[in-house]
Amino acid sequence: MIDTTYFEKDYKALENIQQVRYPREYVPLTATTVQYNGRDYLMMASNNYLGFTHNNAVKEAALKAIEAYGTGSGGARLTSGSHPLFSKLEQELAHFKETESAIIFNTGYMANVGTISALMGKNDIIFSDELNHASIIDGCRLSGATIIRYAHTDMKDLEEKLRCYSGGFLRLIVTDGVFSMDGDIAPLDEIVRLGEKYHALVMVDDAHATGVIGHGKGTAHHFGVETKVDIQLGTLSKSLGSVGGFVCAKEMLVKYLINHSRSYIFSTALSPADIGAALAAVELVEKKPQYVKQLMSNTAYMCEGLIQLGIPSTADTPIFPIIVHENDKALQFSKTLEEKGIILSAIRPPTVPVNQSRLRLTVTAAHTKEELDYVLTSLNQLL
Ligand SMILES: *Cc1c(COP(=O)(O)O)cnc(C)c1O
Repeated sequence: MIDTTYFEKDYKALENIQQVRYPREYVPLTATTVQYNGRDYLMMASNNYLGFTHNNAVKEAALKAIEAYGTGSGGARLTSGSHPLFSKLEQELAHFKETESAIIFNTGYMANVGTISALMGKNDIIFSDELNHASIIDGCRLSGATIIRYAHTDMKDLEEKLRCYSGGFLRLIVTDGVFSMDGDIAPLDEIVRLGEKYHALVMVDDAHATGVIGHGKGTAHHFGVETKVDIQLGTLSKSLGSVGGFVCAKEMLVKYLINHSRSYIFSTALSPADIGAALAAVELVEKKPQYVKQLMSNTAYMCEGLIQLGIPSTADTPIFPIIVHENDKALQFSKTLEEKGIILSAIRPPTVPVNQSRLRLTVTAAHTKEELDYVLTSLNQLL
């Protein structure tokens, strides 16, 4: 048997800096409430921006898909696992993102890793925002390409680096659309302009932008540059209330990924329930604008309330970072709020840079005014 001394040492070191983490199990009651240890809590930490995990139309679509096609897909997409809902969802996503074609992956993580590593290689250069999501970073590393990090949303720095590193067979600029831990929006119009000027492809990760900005269509639509972004990546797991990832792009690029992306080729396809739910969710975003509108209205309401409490905020997206810097302070705030019946998780390194620990507050379309008021009152008492 393995000697676990090394792992114990590592664990103790994490304990000392208050960075030990473990998964807690919450029993979801509604889109905005959970039960934990027998008590009900208000959930202010999820990415379920439109409340679709508990939407009746979405749930019914998942159940209907199980009835029609069973529980699992039983194979990878290129072997036996492609059921008829896949092409329907891929067509719907391509239409939704205003691109020629789309390809579904099992998670957003796998979409990033599989797409970047298939597309880019050792003769290529990737220009990556320093706060990009871990799955983008892992995809870049796996590709073997030269990785040039630029300062967060700093277009002067990006341009300088594009000019300085002029080589590369393929060149790619990659960015989160909405940054997951800060809630700010990448200047995609500027990035597209620099991509054209310096001959680089542009890829945007819309995990937190789909269903949220640009009438729910994401960052490219927000800036009106749908036709100028080469790769629009997204996830079915956040606003869309299901699980999965996708890439929208030109048809030839999608065909290339189908044949080269290892996370697509070598993993069992998503289940009918996952795809059925996602299909219903995308249709809701497209046909019923009230969900995205409600999200925007709740976001504006929370923003105003936070500013009144002296917490600097913008209403650009429903992600509100409350930065407290130290790990122990973030943990203590989170614990005090929990005693008041609110789940608002402390985000610590390695998810955010050292000394940038924070509470990450998110609002959804499903939160009521009373719930948002209760959170603001509790934050006021805490501060
Ligand atoms: C959550 C997230 C992902 C991963 O998506 P999953 O579907 O959860 O695997 C990718 N990129 C960003 C920016 C994310 O926030």
